[in-house]
Amino acid sequence: MIPIIQRNTGWIEVVCGCMFSGKSEELIRRLRRAMIARQKVAIFKPAIDNRYSEDHIVSHSDNKIPSQVISSAEEILQASLESHVVGIDEAQFFDASLIDVCLKLSNMGKRVIVAGLDMDYRGMPFEPIPHLLAIAEYITKMQAICVVCGNPASFTYRTIQDSDRVVIGAANIYEARCRNCYIPPPAEEASVASNGKEKSAGKKKKKKKKKVKA
Ligand SMILES: [Zn+2]
Repeated sequence: MIPIIQRNTGWIEVVCGCMFSGKSEELIRRLRRAMIARQKVAIFKPAIDNRYSEDHIVSHSDNKIPSQVISSAEEILQASLESHVVGIDEAQFFDASLIDVCLKLSNMGKRVIVAGLDMDYRGMPFEPIPHLLAIAEYITKMQAICVVCGNPASFTYRTIQDSDRVVIGAANIYEARCRNCYIPPPAEEASVASNGKEKSAGKKKKKKKKKVKA
């Protein structure tokens, strides 16, 4: 899957999946292996995510590694010039400029490992991860276990009602769910995952039809 030896070339790896799928843990595992090989590693996370620690990437199982907290993706470039490997956690909280940053770093010959949510709580693609998946050399989609039925889970279900796309939280607000047990939030645009389960999705479709007639 991931090459052991690739001299003089960089590449992009994306580790994606729903919440509780072990993304941060997998990122930490890869970065640790690089550190054991005495490679210079730079690790970043967005300032927005301070759930567990201000200066560490921490997985839900309390595995952690020191990281730099940054407020914009551009800061990564300057801070990782000396590094062989660049790790970025919670990448869905950065804007589209992260794409250019990852391209530049990999073109400079660096190994770039990006971890983040591929879908938001509505089941919609969470930029910039979808774009990064398209340009990455290596993709790993992690899965959690559905809290309702125990099947592999790819969706993040929000247990509270809040229309903001980003509500920082963990097990108190979110659950991993499979396609069968995932329920899209009400009064939202029909999501790719709703599959007709949601009443409001049908209503919205009718509204659109009326617009076409007018
Ligand atoms: Zn389920």
